[in-house]
Amino acid sequence: MGELARFTEQFFQSLNAQTTWNGNILEVTKVPEAFENWAGKKAPFRLVFNPGEEQADTDLITKGSFLLKSMTSFLEQKGQATLTFLKPLLDPLEFVQKTLNLKNTTISHTKKGVTYIPLYEFTFATTVAYLNKKEQSLQKLYVLNGQRMLFDIDKFTYESTPAPSLDTSNLKQSYEIAKAATREGIQSTITKAATELQEKLAKEHTRIKAHYENHRRELQTTKMKLELQLQEALKENNFPKIAQCQEKLKQIASTDLVKKLQDEEQFFLTDERQKHSLGVDTKLVSTIVYGFPEYQLELSLTGKDIVRQLIIPYSLLSPLPLFSCESCALPLREIWCCTSGHFSCLPCLVGCDLCRQPLCKRCRIQKCDLCGKDLCKKCTARCPGCLKAKCSSHFGLDYLTGNKRCTSCLKTCTSCTKQTLPSSIKPCDKCGKDFCKPCAAASFQAGRCKGCRS
Ligand SMILES: [Zn+2]
Ligand SMILES: [Zn+2]
Ligand SMILES: [Zn+2]
Ligand SMILES: [Zn+2]
Ligand SMILES: [Zn+2]
Ligand SMILES: [Zn+2]
Ligand SMILES: [Zn+2]
Repeated sequence: MGELARFTEQFFQSLNAQTTWNGNILEVTKVPEAFENWAGKKAPFRLVFNPGEEQADTDLITKGSFLLKSMTSFLEQKGQATLTFLKPLLDPLEFVQKTLNLKNTTISHTKKGVTYIPLYEFTFATTVAYLNKKEQSLQKLYVLNGQRMLFDIDKFTYESTPAPSLDTSNLKQSYEIAKAATREGIQSTITKAATELQEKLAKEHTRIKAHYENHRRELQTTKMKLELQLQEALKENNFPKIAQCQEKLKQIASTDLVKKLQDEEQFFLTDERQKHSLGVDTKLVSTIVYGFPEYQLELSLTGKDIVRQLIIPYSLLSPLPLFSCESCALPLREIWCCTSGHFSCLPCLVGCDLCRQPLCKRCRIQKCDLCGKDLCKKCTARCPGCLKAKCSSHFGLDYLTGNKRCTSCLKTCTSCTKQTLPSSIKPCDKCGKDFCKPCAAASFQAGRCKGCRS
């Protein structure tokens, strides 16, 4: 395979495209859209590398061919650390709107704020070498916020609008975390290899030890034989034989054959151990930095006489925060909202006796001093005269000052039927009927009303 063909095949494989050789034609399918757009050409590609092999639907890859230029420029722009900002396939705002089970409010306004933090994708290639085998594997590891995470990039698309640059000062630290984790991913391969090695090594060691054990036994036997021969020779006074035996025994003792055998054995044992060693080599192949979105969602909830602003910091990595009843703190499956905008469960709600709107236990429930009804804030008023809280229906106006007062703090003029403060009322001395000051001034004579004078 020529250099161009190899480069082309590796290029498409690096994009996770599918490549197959059909004779001299490299067929490429499942090409990512990013490259199709870059090259302005849709897959499948059928590529040939020699002018003589061209067919009607093939593209010829030569130095200077358009597709080759597209490949190299694509790699270059990718290498320039063009930041890719991720966007989840499911819009978080939509998700939250669907998930919130609102009972007596609806979402009237939404706003989505997004910030990005770096998500690092490290690709490591590991070669585990042992005996004459080599097992290679690729690992993609993701690190976010200084933590390794399992991540499915397929659940994201790319943000088309450019976002600000990222603070990638934790790149090195993230790399260390990923690097430390590579061991985990290849642990099973290592364990398998190590077990196989150990078994083979144990076999070899047993063989070597048995071999040298034999040697030692032989040596021992020779020595014993010589000693026997020597004793016999001594009995027989066979001087040449005595000298011969003594010489041989001396040889055995002086060259220290036992020690020699031991050294040799040790050498072979060590040598086998080295032959059965495990080589693990992990290299960083690529680093990609993604902008990972974090959201701040703002929702306005409105219902009848109810307004509630909601700010939800929303992370795609953790489940949607569960809201809880602001009275009893139990998590809420369905969200009720009291008239003060508090979240509540159903058991923690009571209805206002006047408007029937919900009141929660956190709300200050007002009791009407006059009729004893439990009231919401909206349905109560405090009289500036007697300072008591009462149903808002128990109020009138002092017509002289225009001030609001409760009905207990007002008197009605029997003449003009308007209401005013008791201090502005003058009763008739005779009949005792109430007259407001202006009516009294207009009609009283000597403290008596018109009717009492005739
Ligand atoms: Zn509750
Ligand atoms: Zn009310
Ligand atoms: Zn409340
Ligand atoms: Zn009342
Ligand atoms: Zn009053
Ligand atoms: Zn009057
Ligand atoms: Zn009168």
